[in-house]
Amino acid sequence: MAVRIPSWAAQEEAPFWEGIARAELRVQGCTRCGRLRFPPRPFCPQCNWPDAVWRPMSGRASLWSFVIAHPPLMPPFAEIAPYNVIVAALDEDPRIRMVGNLLAAPGGAINEVKPDQIRIGARLMVVFSAGPGELTLPRWMYE
Ligand SMILES: [Zn+2]
Repeated sequence: MAVRIPSWAAQEEAPFWEGIARAELRVQGCTRCGRLRFPPRPFCPQCNWPDAVWRPMSGRASLWSFVIAHPPLMPPFAEIAPYNVIVAALDEDPRIRMVGNLLAAPGGAINEVKPDQIRIGARLMVVFSAGPGELTLPRWMYE
């Protein structure tokens, strides 16, 4: 599978996007202290060590926060609003939080889960799904 690295992504992020292409959620881990870091960055936020390895995550998380997006929005998004944008805190380190969408099913639309069905603290599992713009991203479903 060809890896599509978004034009706006830094080359240092390539292993993250290669993971997406393999349906694997990867996060940098410091080779000195072990601290995970995301988004990708050149130095450890704990010990300032530059070296890291890319570690596959379990894809399990908790719903840390969310918003419901309403217009005014960019045209492709205004058409599907209201939709959810959630923050998932990874089980491996809840300080690692990823912004995504909560889906009802793999490949589902980002507006299928109704706002009153979204609960802070709910258990999540990652899915890899193309959304508006056809970019495959980690998104989330209830466990
Ligand atoms: Zn470190």
